[in-house]
Amino acid sequence: MTYFYGGDGFILAHRRGFYLTAGMPIVLHDTLSREMRPLSLKAGKSTFGMYCCGPTVYGPAHIGNFRTFTLQDVLRRTLEVDGLKVKHVRNITDVDDKTIRGAQAAGQTLTDFTKKWTEKFHADCKALGLLTPQVEPSAVAHIPQQIAMIQALVERGHAYVSKDGSVYFKVHSCKGYGKLSHIDFSKQETQATNSAGEANDADEYERESASDFALWKSRKPEDGNNFWPSPWGEGRPGWHIECSAMSLAHLGATFDLHGGGIDLCFPHHENEIAQTECATGINGFAAHWFHSAHLLVEGEKMSKSKGNLFTLDELVAKGFSPMEVRYALIAGHYRTSLNFTMKGLEDARSALGKIERGVEKLLQVAGFTKAEFSVPTVMETQTAWGRFAHAWEVLQHDLNIPGCLGQVFTMLADKSELTEAQARHDLSGLGKILYALGLVLFTEVAGPSAPANVVALAAQRWAAKQAKDFAAADRLRKELTELGWTMLDHKDGYDLKKSV
Ligand SMILES: [Zn+2]
Repeated sequence: MTYFYGGDGFILAHRRGFYLTAGMPIVLHDTLSREMRPLSLKAGKSTFGMYCCGPTVYGPAHIGNFRTFTLQDVLRRTLEVDGLKVKHVRNITDVDDKTIRGAQAAGQTLTDFTKKWTEKFHADCKALGLLTPQVEPSAVAHIPQQIAMIQALVERGHAYVSKDGSVYFKVHSCKGYGKLSHIDFSKQETQATNSAGEANDADEYERESASDFALWKSRKPEDGNNFWPSPWGEGRPGWHIECSAMSLAHLGATFDLHGGGIDLCFPHHENEIAQTECATGINGFAAHWFHSAHLLVEGEKMSKSKGNLFTLDELVAKGFSPMEVRYALIAGHYRTSLNFTMKGLEDARSALGKIERGVEKLLQVAGFTKAEFSVPTVMETQTAWGRFAHAWEVLQHDLNIPGCLGQVFTMLADKSELTEAQARHDLSGLGKILYALGLVLFTEVAGPSAPANVVALAAQRWAAKQAKDFAAADRLRKELTELGWTMLDHKDGYDLKKSV
């Protein structure tokens, strides 16, 4: 136990892990129970197990995908700041209809094709400041585990083999199916009879019921060379089974939290619960379900035909930095649809600028340099929250990012005179919040986001200024302006910013 100064006076804190917190657990809405529930470690466990459905690697991920991954990253970081050790597992879907079709169209093997898109996904994640999951299992690397789970389901009477060697999950055999999406499946007609109650010709129907889904798909000519041997003949796993098999392999039959976009809630997540609970006979697959809402672009649904499935590269080409994209993606509440707009990206730029200016002022009073602020260890040794204790509490309540940011701006606008110690406490608190949100400041300093010619011109201008050749420095500044870049000079260096 220790005491530190918070915005509302002295707050009792518990030492949990590396950080000190205000002693409150994070509370999050759970899709299954529809309740707000605290996130905590199960008795006897030292790590918080978190499984997130990952990308299907057949092309670049779009901002809708990245909103989900970025919100999951904020949740993980918030748990870490709260002192929990998180084991984050996010799979790679590298075999399904889309990846097979994509590989064939590109004239590549499935391995080469999915490797290329996995690498692109990783590069985008890095640019957006997403922490790397501790485990990133791939579906292709877990075929035996998927077969073993399907075998268990067949043995337990929850799955059946069709005439063509495909295996289906028998939804009616699973008590409680529909509990996550809150749909009642007990009254569904089966495909064995039609709506008039007449028997259908069994040959026409591989599945016994319309709601049954494929666990194993028998080999088809269009699969090319992408098939594996199984007890039911050659084929490939269905999409849903991979997440059940990989979460079981890396987190066990039950774990703490499962995340994904709301579109995955049904059928994918419902099927994951059914598969795992029926195969293991253990109830309570994931203790908590974290779903993030849809993303709209300029008020419209994202679709290929509308041309609004933006990738990170496309937004960077429009002159926005990945950090501005990150800010725009997390600025809305995770349970509300986010309307992603170019105006929102411009707002993100000005918001980040405002935070940077506020931090610069605090650094001055605290006697720190910008470089020291960007080194996490400086913040980690600081235990206080300063005037940002309330902003942190707001974030801890249902991951309320917009509320937390609102508090941050209120505190940064407060013109009270601060002592050096108070400014240091503020920086400690704000630094931890910025870590949780994954917002990295001062990133526009001649870095990879500026093209090489701009970086070179900036360096030449800085050298000219140092040599007191002001005519040359002026000329180079004009050249930079024409290229759309501005240099902001400081005592010991400069920032390079894209002009708005
Ligand atoms: Zn999944």
